[in-house]
Amino acid sequence: MHYDMLLLRFGEITVKGRNRSRFEKAALAHVQDLLRAFPATEIKKEYGRIYVVLNGESATKITDVLKNVFGVTSISPVKVASSDIEEITAQAIDFIESMNITKETTFKVNARRVWKKFPVSSQEMNQIISSPILKACPHLKVDVHHPEIELRIEVREQGTYLFSDVVPAAGGFPRGTNGKAMLLLSGGIDSPVAGWSAMRRGLEIECVHFHSYPFTSKKAEEKVIDLAQVLSGYYGQIKLHLVPFTEIQTTLAQGSHENVMITLMRRAMLRIASSLADRNGALALVTGDSLGQVASQTLASMNVIGRATTLPILRPLVTTDKEDIIGLAQRIGTYQLSILPYEDCCTLFVPKSPSTNPNLNVIERIEASLPQLEEQIKEAVLGTETIMIKPGETVVRRSAVEPVVQDKWF
Ligand code: ATP
Ligand code: MG
Repeated sequence: MHYDMLLLRFGEITVKGRNRSRFEKAALAHVQDLLRAFPATEIKKEYGRIYVVLNGESATKITDVLKNVFGVTSISPVKVASSDIEEITAQAIDFIESMNITKETTFKVNARRVWKKFPVSSQEMNQIISSPILKACPHLKVDVHHPEIELRIEVREQGTYLFSDVVPAAGGFPRGTNGKAMLLLSGGIDSPVAGWSAMRRGLEIECVHFHSYPFTSKKAEEKVIDLAQVLSGYYGQIKLHLVPFTEIQTTLAQGSHENVMITLMRRAMLRIASSLADRNGALALVTGDSLGQVASQTLASMNVIGRATTLPILRPLVTTDKEDIIGLAQRIGTYQLSILPYEDCCTLFVPKSPSTNPNLNVIERIEASLPQLEEQIKEAVLGTETIMIKPGETVVRRSAVEPVVQDKWF
């Protein structure tokens, strides 16, 4: 079937009263960005919908790109006919015949007369169009309640749209319409998924990653850059802050409180991330925590760790099962990178029996006994390197001769 257009629908943003036009504009801008790679296409905006005129581009290919636009709930490929009942009927028969139905299938025609001057009513159209379709396709049976195929026909003055397939799209809120947050991005499976989920909710994110170079390898860092690049594909571009964490880890390890090492590390991470959030105008932190998954993600641990910051900590995956997280990671394209074996700064220091129930007073006493910690946290913030990551662009890495792009505030 050769389609003329795509119809993009919005979901819950349509109920958001005054914000609606702001949301729709953001989704439209996202669509425009993605379609720059397909200059033949044209975009038409209508209240509550976006149309993409394909001008010969493949409907499947463009749908695959646009189904990642946040705020868009579904996409239908559309055939356009002139608004004339004979032409519409002929196109409708063609539309159904192109589906090559070879076994008994239920269907219905659902016509809607948007152009009130069109001489045939919606009800009449359903009948006029169904009868020749039933003749042309002997396997079809009408079922008006739960049809397997629903051929929708919208008659407008400038043309009539015929469509049937409804491809689910990302949904959520349009790109960047709900403020900015700082994502703690490790090389694991969870945090990239948490980042995508946060973006899907309309958050702009910047990523912060803690590395323990030279204890962790360049490969580990490249993996995180690659993960951030996959995430950037869903947004357009993304900032990645690379924080030197080696000295802090060494200090914390000297405290020789092995079982609370992870608790101490996470609290230091939250402090640094909060400072970076303040400097970059982010109002929350996002982590990949999932309740009970590991010792540092029990309620007691989250509680003690979370008190290291006054910013809200968003945990999009907190109640999501691992299997579902893995499914999402596969869908968004981060899974294969996440399972690469390069070590993370935390895995180097994983204690034999990490505490599942740390005590806030004890933790605060340990931190107070490490006078250099405060200074090292400040130094880590100042020593942070920031790179801008864009989809499909080679990233200038630290190992390259070129200096890295640094943020203005250094
Ligand atoms: P993930 O798969 O995201 O690594 P995880 O189940 O392995 O999660 P942890 O390693 O305990 O869990 O980390 C919990 C969260 O802490 C991560 O989801 C991430 O948000 C943050 N985090 C952990 N290590 C780092 C790091 N090196 N840099 C940035 N954030 C980190
Ligand atoms: Mg991890």
